[in-house]
Amino acid sequence: MEPTGNSSTITNIGQDDLDWKKISPFLNKGDDPELLYFLYKGLIFPKEDTLMLRCRMTGAELDSKQLIALAEIAETHGGGYADITTRANFQIREIPFKDAIIILKKLLELGIAPPITGLNNLRNVTVTPTTGFDPVELTDISSIAKEIYQQMLYNEELQGLPGKFNIALDSGGKISVSSEANDLGIKAVSLDGKVYFRLTAADLHGEDTIANDLNWLILPENIVHVVATIIKTYLQLGDFSKRLRSRIKFLIKQIGIETFKEKVLAQLECEVINDSSVTFTNHAEPDAHLGIQPQRQEDLCYIGVNGSAGRYTSQQLKLIASVANTHGNDTIRLTTLQNCLIPFLNRSIIPEIVETIQATKLTVNSKIAGSIIACTGSAGCSFSASATKAHSLALSQYLDANGDYNEPINIHFTGCSFSCAQPYIGDIGLIGTKSKGEECYHIFLGGGAESNTSSVRVWKAVPHNIVPQHVKAILDFYAQQKQCGEDFNQFVHRYGAENFNQSIEPSG
Ligand code: SF4
Repeated sequence: MEPTGNSSTITNIGQDDLDWKKISPFLNKGDDPELLYFLYKGLIFPKEDTLMLRCRMTGAELDSKQLIALAEIAETHGGGYADITTRANFQIREIPFKDAIIILKKLLELGIAPPITGLNNLRNVTVTPTTGFDPVELTDISSIAKEIYQQMLYNEELQGLPGKFNIALDSGGKISVSSEANDLGIKAVSLDGKVYFRLTAADLHGEDTIANDLNWLILPENIVHVVATIIKTYLQLGDFSKRLRSRIKFLIKQIGIETFKEKVLAQLECEVINDSSVTFTNHAEPDAHLGIQPQRQEDLCYIGVNGSAGRYTSQQLKLIASVANTHGNDTIRLTTLQNCLIPFLNRSIIPEIVETIQATKLTVNSKIAGSIIACTGSAGCSFSASATKAHSLALSQYLDANGDYNEPINIHFTGCSFSCAQPYIGDIGLIGTKSKGEECYHIFLGGGAESNTSSVRVWKAVPHNIVPQHVKAILDFYAQQKQCGEDFNQFVHRYGAENFNQSIEPSG
């Protein structure tokens, strides 16, 4: 992986480069300009008296040295754990202010510190995590992901995107990145043996929103330019005066998708083919992020492991790094389902590896536990109405202890309506809320980015302590009523999400 930063960016910073208004909350914490600069860079954000480190890796890939270093940062300076987020980022929490400079210098040495200011506004590029070794994908999209990321870092015309802006690239592989659930979704398609890309804009992000297909076919050599032009157009036309109304979906809603396309086309310096007939072939398997999975390369496989709702102890991270270094190709991929993939493992060594991994309490085979994801929640986010991590863990333990739930049904816990854990595309989505002072969840059913179906809220404000029984009742109902071969999403849409509350009481 190429370094994305260098130490000169720390020491050569001048006061004029700092946005003092933005960093003023930190002024009392110390007057070290380096510290303030890094805070402004967005690598470290405050949570009460401690800091959080967020690392974004290009293509969500890192090597064993980087992972071990992050594990050591978590162990020495943080809470002894790290979270993989629903955008395949790394977060380390509970860092004292005094340790910020030491940590950031380590990141620079590791090549995972960003070289520009305003990083909090630089949003993500997520990518099929198996690209390059996926047995069914249409094309390896690693280099395109990297080029788009570089554009977002260095192209001045693309600066100033709102928080949470995300681009997702899908190579047509085994693990979905739910591209329609992102501001821009890019999918590989095939026509006459040639690979093109299709684009969707405006995320599938609520009960009344669907992703807009631009109905263009774009050649691989043009996709980076087209994406950059779309972003530029959005930045020129969007209303960024109100944070909650600044996403691309509001612009498209306001001017219409056809007008938006015209504005983009007016600035494009390449051809796009107008075509709505070539559809994306979905090869995604709901459990391909877990367990032992074949690779494109003969006799090699990858293994998908999960912590607890995306949380990993530093010891678990070190073990993952060690396996990747000793038995794999020294890389680890992170997924938006909050787990780690260790690729390029020889099949003959798998039993030994699984035994070693399971000894650290990492999940390898439990499909239901591996399909529960949670945003940071109240343990680390001031917006949250609920302790999502703890509640998702309680659900996972309850299901493990009370049945044989081994279908990959995605359950997405999110602490507030910002929906970082994308509850609208989970089979079961939970959004935290407070009712009479109690932590509760609105429960949604029927989401699915691949089917472009948004979910429906079925139950309001279910107290967190009965959520496990309630979810169990939903899963049991599905198991009893489903038709042969019917997955959860299909069942919900056949039965009707709105009919569930007549069959299942909130008390479970
Ligand atoms: S969904 Fe809300 S509570 Fe959860 S991490 Fe995002 S902003 Fe915080």
